Formats: sequence, structure tokens, C-alpha cells
Amino acid sequence: MNLSDLAPEYIRAISPYQPGKPISELAREMGMDERTIIKLASNENPLGTSPLALEAMTRALNEVALYPDGSGFELKAALSKRYGVTSSQIVLGNGSNDVLELAARVFLKPGASAVYSQHAFAVYPLVTQAVGASGIAVRAIKYGHDLDAMLDAVTPETRIVFIANPNNPTGTLLAASALLRFLERVSSDVLVVLDEAYNEYLPGTIKADSIAWLKRFPNLLITRTFSKAYGMAGIRVGFGLAHPDVSGLMNRVRQPFNVNSVALAGAVAALEDVEFVKRTYALNQAGMLQITTGLRQLGIEYIPSYGNFLSFRLSQHDVRAINESLLRQGVIVRPIGIYEMPEHLRVTVGLESENQKFLKSLEIAIGESA
Ligand SMILES: *Cc1c(COP(=O)(O)O)cnc(C)c1O
Repeated sequence: MNLSDLAPEYIRAISPYQPGKPISELAREMGMDERTIIKLASNENPLGTSPLALEAMTRALNEVALYPDGSGFELKAALSKRYGVTSSQIVLGNGSNDVLELAARVFLKPGASAVYSQHAFAVYPLVTQAVGASGIAVRAIKYGHDLDAMLDAVTPETRIVFIANPNNPTGTLLAASALLRFLERVSSDVLVVLDEAYNEYLPGTIKADSIAWLKRFPNLLITRTFSKAYGMAGIRVGFGLAHPDVSGLMNRVRQPFNVNSVALAGAVAALEDVEFVKRTYALNQAGMLQITTGLRQLGIEYIPSYGNFLSFRLSQHDVRAINESLLRQGVIVRPIGIYEMPEHLRVTVGLESENQKFLKSLEIAIGESA
């Protein structure tokens, strides 16, 4: 008997998520000193973690013998205050990935479908397939979501539309007005999951007031994370905001203790750390300018990005060879062939010195491949 035959066909068909290569793995593979390697592959915060969060988490470590507060009372209270929603509208997750999965488990099943964009975040097809539903990938325009086409792709069986804004790995942003028009037109029996993992990196002037839309659209779920701007990717905490009927169902299917106590304490403190988010934002703006300027000098085409990362195109070069040269030089970026972007690499905006090393190494890599 082949054990994998016991799993449903839709589970066997899943291709695993490919994370960014850890520094320790590259060091092992190449016999390099970890300290000479920089990782710009997973959109992590180059400033590390919010110091307030770090302090709170260190304190919380003393109590890990106890189960976490399964209701996340304090974090929900802090989020309610910050975002002007009720606690009953909040779903906490073990990263926002968990929230995306909960949405799929609640609203999808075999026979149902989810709509998402080509080049969109890889987790959407994953969570869709994992519950036996079918995914409908809609062709992108200029690497961004084509909302009109996504609306047309919705069928009577569609229960979720996933929208990443900004999107990863393309960094594209939809205008607030376009999103609003989409929400007004899409059938109210379709849950619109608006993934705003990079919200904190947007200038205030172009940020959609998406949370205010929750009052008008009971079929809207907004997801946010502490992984990116708050620098807490390793501790896993994110959240969803929705109509209480939606969050209520999601809270029923989640694990009772899905967010650990250290993460809960850290997230409460992180929300207070306005200063850290400000510094993160400013560093990202400067780093984005540094990288785009450098790429332009190298004659490399890139997709303008609204996140803390950027995808650039190496159409004249062998992407694999360039990536391998970067790795040999101790620079980890992300190949995005699985996003149907085989000619692109994605780089996370790092510290000034890291961006510098990346640009220099890329120049060398291109020289080698010419
Ligand atoms: C990084 C990212 C997330 C956040 O994942 P977590 O599970 O919260 O760490 C969600 N959506 C997108 C588009 C992302 O790039």
C-alpha cells in the first residue's frame, strides 16, 4: 500500500510553499561564515523587532508554563482601541497566514471556488487547495490585480476572492477607489479577503481607509500582520477584522490556543511602538530609493513597489546563474518562478549597507554572466 494514496487527490496535488533560504542553510551548503551572509529573501524587518515588543516578550517568557489566553483578550482590546472595531470583529491568528487558512476552512469546500490574481501571494492557492476547493487564477495586468476580470471570474460557486494590497511579490497597489468599486459590485455572498500585510509601508496619503468599509460590507475580511513592519515574523501573530458573524465562525474553527502567549504579549506592546514603525517606514523609503536608483544605473528593469521588497527583471540574463552568483557572494534573494515570474528575482529592502552589498553583488553577478 502506498500511504500517499490514502490522502485525497486535492491534497496530493499541492505543491509545497517554497520559503526563502535560511542563512544557516546557505552557510552549511557553501561552507560560509553566517556573519558574511545577508538575507533579503523574506520581507523581514532589517531593524529587527520593535524594542517594546521585545521587552514584553522577554517578560512573557517567564510564564510559558501556562497556556496562553485563548481569547486573546488584551490584544483584542488593544486592536479595538487602535482600529475602532469591536473585539467580536477580531480573529487572531498564528501569523496572518493562519487567518487566511481559517477563512478558507470556514467558507470553502470541495465544489466551491476561490478567485485570486496571477502573481498573487502563494498562500491563497495553498489554503484553497488544502480544503479541496478549486482556485481560479485571473490573469494580471501589468503585474497587478485586474479587478474587473476578477469580478467576471466569480461564479455561483465562488465563496472567496483574495486580494493582496500591496501584493507580494509584485509590490503593486490598487487604488482605494478601485477596491471600493469592486466591493460595491461583487456579490454579497462572496467573502472578499483584503490582505494588507504591508499596510504600514504605505504613505498615509495613498492608504485606503479599508477598516471604515467594514461597516458597509459584511462580506469583507481585512488581514494584517505583526510579521513585517513590527519585525515579529518568527513569533507568528496576525489578525483579521470582519463582521462579527464572519469572525465568529472563524473563531469556532481555530485552535483554542492558536496564538502563543509570548506573541500575544509582544503584539500588545508592538502596537504602542509608533516610533519603531516610523523608523521602519523611513528606512524602507530610503532603501527603496537606494535600490531603485542602483538598479536603474545597472540598466535593470523593476516593478515599482509599495511594499518593503521589489521584483526586478533579468530578461537578458540567466536568472538561475545570477541567483547562484548572488548566493556565492552571500546574498540571499528570492527566485519567483513559482509565481509565474521566471525572469524576476525579488529582493527585500534591507539596511543601507545590505542594499549596497546586494547592488554590488548583482553588478558582479551580471558581469560574470555577460
Ligand atoms: C508576508 C505576507 C503575509 C504575512 O504572513 P504572516 O503569516 O503574517 O507572517 C501575508 N500576506 C502577504 C501578501 C505577505 O507577503
